[in-house]
Amino acid sequence: SAHAERAANDIAAHLHPFTNLAAHPQVDPLVIERGDGIYVQDDQGRRYLEAMSGLWCVSLGFSNARLAKAGSEALHTLPCYHTFNHRSNAAAIALAEKLIAMAPVPMSKVFFANSGSEANDTAVKLVWYYHNAIGKPAKKKIIARRNAYHGVTVAAASLSGLVPNHRDFDLPIDRILHVDCPHHYRYAEPGETEEAFATRLADALEQRILAEGPDTVGAFIAEPVMGAGGVLVPPATYFEKVQAVLRKYEVLLIADEVICGFCRTGEMFGSTTFGLRPDILTAAKALSSGYVPISAVMVSEQVHAAVAANSGKIGTFGHGFTYSGHPVTAAVALETLRIYEEEKVLAHVQSLAPQFQAGLRRYAGHPHVGEVRGAGLIGAIELAADPATRTPFDPAMKAGARLAELALQEGLIVRAMGDAVAFCPPLIITPAQIDEMFERFDRAMARFEASLA
Ligand code: PLP
Repeated sequence: SAHAERAANDIAAHLHPFTNLAAHPQVDPLVIERGDGIYVQDDQGRRYLEAMSGLWCVSLGFSNARLAKAGSEALHTLPCYHTFNHRSNAAAIALAEKLIAMAPVPMSKVFFANSGSEANDTAVKLVWYYHNAIGKPAKKKIIARRNAYHGVTVAAASLSGLVPNHRDFDLPIDRILHVDCPHHYRYAEPGETEEAFATRLADALEQRILAEGPDTVGAFIAEPVMGAGGVLVPPATYFEKVQAVLRKYEVLLIADEVICGFCRTGEMFGSTTFGLRPDILTAAKALSSGYVPISAVMVSEQVHAAVAANSGKIGTFGHGFTYSGHPVTAAVALETLRIYEEEKVLAHVQSLAPQFQAGLRRYAGHPHVGEVRGAGLIGAIELAADPATRTPFDPAMKAGARLAELALQEGLIVRAMGDAVAFCPPLIITPAQIDEMFERFDRAMARFEASLA
């Protein structure tokens, strides 16, 4: 069959990202051929409800005609041009203006890159550049969190706090440190309230800054909701307490909005939902509904002014990508942002969030569900062998992966991260489709339960 031939060619020629490479030759790859709305179809005609928006990105679904048209027109008008050395193009200019208008806190300028990883590497370099520019060259350490995911380029992988990002790559690089993540269910002491847990983490952050030396700590980076770490939603007062510490020691805050940005958590940015006031903000994924690779780094006037003044002394600001502000990706992103506004996507998300969150929380009493968590249209269900004692399943069981595989067989794409199963559906999902998503998941859960018996 055409699929069998494709699968063989895939195995022969394609080195896959984040894949067990030794096992790959024995695994029949899922070859996705097309998509419409919130559904995708494989090359054997099977249809799936894509409850992960691909990799948390296809916010407007898989068949948005306006985005296809914007991309096509841009390809016909000016398929490529750079923005180095005072060059620019209308789409990049309009996109930068629009992002500044939408930003959750006052932002001064926008830098463009192609991926979340590049945006975060850019943020790291801006922090370093900034502290050099203001005469504090020792203030270079960046504090990230365990279980964070910030990407795979060398600095972004170092910021990430997940084992596969570091192990075997000799990472993290020095100057990048990790503190505990705010997952109350997993890391709180017995009986510790969310508030007390948040206070303890903020105190630990302060102690770490003091131990390192405040003059050596330049920035703290956080995802408002930690995505790949398992959709970890912080305690209500966590960011308020953390930011009080950051202000005290003049440590910049980088908000990684690569997943949370653009309506996902029920506000335009996760920073608004969770009270972050970042100096630098990175965004990607839903910036273009995932249709083309583009990311953005927004910087405050404080950061920009110092960087620009220093550049005035040495000449060129020595950072930028060939495709920074690419006219095609910028045009598609600009159209994406227009659609969010014109089609009132944020209001749609806010109206659906209660149904989505209630649908998830129905699983809270399930005999093998430890925690249900989420905000807006993102959430996760964490399995447990014994929810009463929060005892996880034996990792060798791969319980989460097993449940995700059963869901796939029921025509539903969810993602297992350890034993947490994530949901991040396209923002255009309808109430009836949310019901359909949970009906399919019910069937997968019933089969998972039966498999344990
Ligand atoms: N930051 C976050 C929060 C992410 O979830 C991701 C990717 O999933 C990245 C950064 C890296 O983005 P990319 O894969 O586009 O490099």
